[in-house]
Amino acid sequence: MKVYYSEAHREHNPPFEVFEGGIQVPVFECPERMDRILGALRHSGWADIMPPEDVGLDPILAVHNADYIEYLRTAFDDWQRDGGELGARYASPVLIPAAFPPRRSAGKPRSIGARAGYYTMDLSAPIVAGTYRAAVESAQCAVSAAKAVAAGERVAYALCRPPGHHAGRDYCGGYCYLNNASIAARWLSLIGKVAVLDIDYHAGNGTQDIFYESADVLTISIHANPATHYPSFMGYADEIGEGIGRGRHRNFPLPSHTGDADYLRAFGEALELIRNFSPRALVVSAGMDIHVGDPLGDFDVTTEGIGEIGRRIVALGLPTVVAQEGGYNTDALGANVVSFLSAFA
Ligand SMILES: [Zn+2]
Repeated sequence: MKVYYSEAHREHNPPFEVFEGGIQVPVFECPERMDRILGALRHSGWADIMPPEDVGLDPILAVHNADYIEYLRTAFDDWQRDGGELGARYASPVLIPAAFPPRRSAGKPRSIGARAGYYTMDLSAPIVAGTYRAAVESAQCAVSAAKAVAAGERVAYALCRPPGHHAGRDYCGGYCYLNNASIAARWLSLIGKVAVLDIDYHAGNGTQDIFYESADVLTISIHANPATHYPSFMGYADEIGEGIGRGRHRNFPLPSHTGDADYLRAFGEALELIRNFSPRALVVSAGMDIHVGDPLGDFDVTTEGIGEIGRRIVALGLPTVVAQEGGYNTDALGANVVSFLSAFA
């Protein structure tokens, strides 16, 4: 199995994040996650790990606004330069927004702290010097996997870090800067209809947002109830797409402590929607934070359950790009990814 992975992710290593209630904690979305997955893949015997192809920015700009990409590219340097006296006084090594726009009514402010708020949905997308390069390489992994699948591979795995499914056209959030799965899906849509299936514990709000008015990409997300869990403002069952995209999005919010049987029941409904859509290819946003014991989730899905999810996706018989999303129990992460992927191997 072709596995696309870039060492550039190590440059994105923020010193802390501001967790719920304003507690400063080490970032859950850390480089060690990749080491755990790589370690497990190297033992698998079927993973062919390679760097991504440099496909330039065009596939990324097919999904994200150019001004947002320019912001991501320059934000950290601007912060270092324009943070001015305050920045120097506190010597902050990480850019976290200073202000958020009320209902996006205002224009784009000039100060970097406020511009960060304009392009960011929460406090969980800190930017450091290496963030932009890591995010671009992560997206390149997804595009490389899409190209491999378009060229005839049955499956390709993009070992993306940072993850992507919370990032919208012009905003970052929830550890995500560029929406890797959406970028792969948009690229694949050149050859036909595409379905995106998001199994991360958290609703894939960015993916939902990006394709909400698209008829050629079906997006489905199975996740924790947003009324009580992040990302809070999207992921509800009555959000089904708009305009020509009406009926092309579905959310399956599930209760806390959903275990294998209940998860697979909802999952079966999602697979039925995909079959009825008859896509040419599938992109899976593979978050492993559905696993029991994940520090950022409260589902009870087991490693075996994750393997069964993989087998049922394989049974769809679709060329499939798997993009890594969340999963924060580093001890279990490698085994979960291998359990999922071995169905394809
Ligand atoms: Zn997640």
